[in-house]
Amino acid sequence: MQIMKDIVSNTIRNLGLQKPYNDQSVIVHWSEIVGDDIAANAYARSVQQGTLMVSVNSSVWSHHLSMMKESIIDKINKFIGYKLIFDIRFQAGYFSNSKNEENTDINTVPNIKYQLSKVTLDENDVQTMQETSNHISDKYLKQKILRIMRKDFALKKIKKQHNWHQCASCTVLCPPEETYCTACTLNKKHKLLYTIINTLKEIPWIRYAELYEHIACTEEEFQQAKYTLTAFISRDIQEGDYDKFKIMSFIMLTTGAKIEAVNDAIINKTLEKFRRKK
Ligand SMILES: [Zn+2]
Repeated sequence: MQIMKDIVSNTIRNLGLQKPYNDQSVIVHWSEIVGDDIAANAYARSVQQGTLMVSVNSSVWSHHLSMMKESIIDKINKFIGYKLIFDIRFQAGYFSNSKNEENTDINTVPNIKYQLSKVTLDENDVQTMQETSNHISDKYLKQKILRIMRKDFALKKIKKQHNWHQCASCTVLCPPEETYCTACTLNKKHKLLYTIINTLKEIPWIRYAELYEHIACTEEEFQQAKYTLTAFISRDIQEGDYDKFKIMSFIMLTTGAKIEAVNDAIINKTLEKFRRKK
């Protein structure tokens, strides 16, 4: 059996189409991967975030295949050349009228399906599609890939027409009202949260107004960071970690008391509370 990653051209990889290409490979080469017996009774439909959706012609087969799930996942990932599939969901009874599904972030632009069909691609895009598909010998797979690429290019074009712009920190297109794409927004939030947490670790009594002089964040973000850190520390203490500095930090975080105000009496009192809870 030929390993897919070896025959995938660099063009596909460079275009960021490696994943849809691999997703489609699983569907197209399904019978080759699992064998004719299984393929006659189960039909690979789509891949959604690492989960392969398989339609099965009866609940008996669904049960039978569930037993073999791990070994099927193993076969797929060996075929693709890396861990593409983490789980398989078998759905009984959808077999006869099922069709392959493709995923795109298609709901972000109004009337997208109609618009997609009307788009004329740029010459550059058409050329890229031709060059890429030249590397694929499998006729069915070639068609699939061309369709995915066409959709991808068309979608980009439509988004540009709707004034979508490149995310301020990566190449993904985002709607006019957003500066960053969803992934970068989450990433930034995450980073900010940890910056605040790290500051709170050093200055647990700091108040929002003081912190804001150094870190631009909302009060809600500040409270969230504080809550997260407090939860971490109190879990440690509850589990029997009576490190004195941890207990002091807990007191400072929850009361806003400065370090010089935290004495042994307060520490022992807090510790008593934790012990009693336990
Ligand atoms: Zn981004």
